[in-house]
Amino acid sequence: MERVKFIYCPECKELRPKSWYHYGDCILCGKKSMTIKIPISIFGYLMYAFSAVGIIFVSYEIADIQTGLGDLRLFIMFGAIIAALVFSYIETSRATELAVEKVGKVR
Ligand SMILES: [Zn+2]
Repeated sequence: MERVKFIYCPECKELRPKSWYHYGDCILCGKKSMTIKIPISIFGYLMYAFSAVGIIFVSYEIADIQTGLGDLRLFIMFGAIIAALVFSYIETSRATELAVEKVGKVR
């Protein structure tokens, strides 16, 4: 199952999204920080789904592949990209809220 990861430093009370290159030490004080994992929600999956659709249509555009959809393809392409951004925003705020609830106090 996919998870949204955060790192939390109990020392600095700092919660931030975990990056793929980050190994878990606090960026600010260098102390060992906790990894908080929030299960991804339907919004996260919708984000992936719309991103995939967006990427497919963008690559059709670049490769000049005819989809037979006419101008509709542009609506689908931009619609999918916008939807992916919106769901990504919803998912991030939701996951952040849950992570804050888990750790308690965040400055
Ligand atoms: Zn710290």
